[in-house]
Amino acid sequence: MTTNMWDVVVVGAGPAGSAAAKKCAEHGLKTLLLEKQKLPRHKVCTGALMGSMTQNIVKEVFGEVPREVLTTPPYVEGFIVYSPGYEGRKTDHRMPLTWRDDLDYWMNQGAKKAGSELWEESLVSGVTQETEGCTIKLRRQGQNQEITARFVIGADGGNSTVRKSIFPEFTPHYMRCFQEVYETKLSVTPKYIHWYVLYPDRRIFEVHHKTWKGAGVVVVDAQGRPDEEVKKKDVMDRVRDAMAKECGFDLKSKLVWSDGCLDGMWLRDLFSTFFPAKGNVLIIGDASGIRFPVTAEGIGTGIRCGLMAADSINKAIHGQGKADSYYLSDAKILYSELEKLAPPRGYLGEQAKKGPEFLLDAYKGIYDAALEYK
Ligand SMILES: Cc1cc2nc3c(=O)[nH]c(=O)nc-3n(C[C@H](O)[C@H](O)[C@H](O)COP(=O)(O)OP(=O)(O)OC[C@H]3O[C@@H](n4cnc5c(N)ncnc54)[C@H](O)[C@@H]3O)c2cc1C
Repeated sequence: MTTNMWDVVVVGAGPAGSAAAKKCAEHGLKTLLLEKQKLPRHKVCTGALMGSMTQNIVKEVFGEVPREVLTTPPYVEGFIVYSPGYEGRKTDHRMPLTWRDDLDYWMNQGAKKAGSELWEESLVSGVTQETEGCTIKLRRQGQNQEITARFVIGADGGNSTVRKSIFPEFTPHYMRCFQEVYETKLSVTPKYIHWYVLYPDRRIFEVHHKTWKGAGVVVVDAQGRPDEEVKKKDVMDRVRDAMAKECGFDLKSKLVWSDGCLDGMWLRDLFSTFFPAKGNVLIIGDASGIRFPVTAEGIGTGIRCGLMAADSINKAIHGQGKADSYYLSDAKILYSELEKLAPPRGYLGEQAKKGPEFLLDAYKGIYDAALEYK
């Protein structure tokens, strides 16, 4: 083994990667956290610490979320789910609200303080498994480099390069998500996140108020459907029209920011066709696909995966077995717990056919259970 080999290289400095790097460093492992973007970096996300599980684990791992990491309003009181023409269904559950650049940067600093090294603007292009450890190819400061590690944790999000390197045969489903931020106000209360289901195609979007650089803004998150090759313009034109009708959106509002991302949709493939670890490479967070069903909450599940991966590697390094076996067994337990929160296959489609009020009740039931889950 070469002396400049890292014990663990974690790829991706989101919540999953930061938690994994922090815990590895706390175990005394020589840990490097790699991030392709300059930090802090934005991420398309509502930025809500949604359920009880997430709120508890963030506090346990990183501490109380500092006021400067929260937005104005710092909390929302829950979700209201609507369909045009029907009364909204409310789920009361207090949630801290953040921008992901601030939240994730705070978590990055937690990993650094624990002793992990952090290299930003370091794009990983591939990982190869060797007899002893792994080789990681990356581009940093305009230079191509290769580094080695005993273990690699892939925490590089839904479109993970690490996962593709290790599991080239796995071709998952994706959904396109879009985010727009407007300097404006809506007629609906800033105390809740407002979720809309449009008929007949069940297109979903969500709006909430925040401040950005001192100005009041409205954030809109809209989604396509699995494997749909949809254009941003087609989705957002329709969503903006619906916002104007349903929540008083001024179509002349100033757009201050917009982005999009691919969101992984393979929860049901997990532990049947896809097992998120092989040898000395463990895949966590969105890269693994482990998330809450339907609500798609992923900050807390990412952190939990990160801790499980770090503990598994620590045990393996101390000669107590194989990291991938430990991790797969712990991740399977988490997955089985989350699976209990998923509706039976086809259930949402059946409720949708019965009518919007049935679908709204179904969503409310799923949200209530997911947010209460500890
Ligand atoms: C519209 C929308 C709204 C959402 N709202 C919420 C919400 O309110 N609450 C919630 O809990 N979840 C929400 N989620 C889900 C949540 O955003 C994700 O589950 C969460 O970010 C997963 O964290 P992660 O650390 O696994 O991945 P990420 O946060 O995606 O972090 C991955 C990191 O890896 C980096 N990276 C990628 N490729 C490379 C590479 N090749 N080399 C180096 N670095 C790389 C990326 O730049 C990124 O920083 C939402 C998702 C969407 C799409």
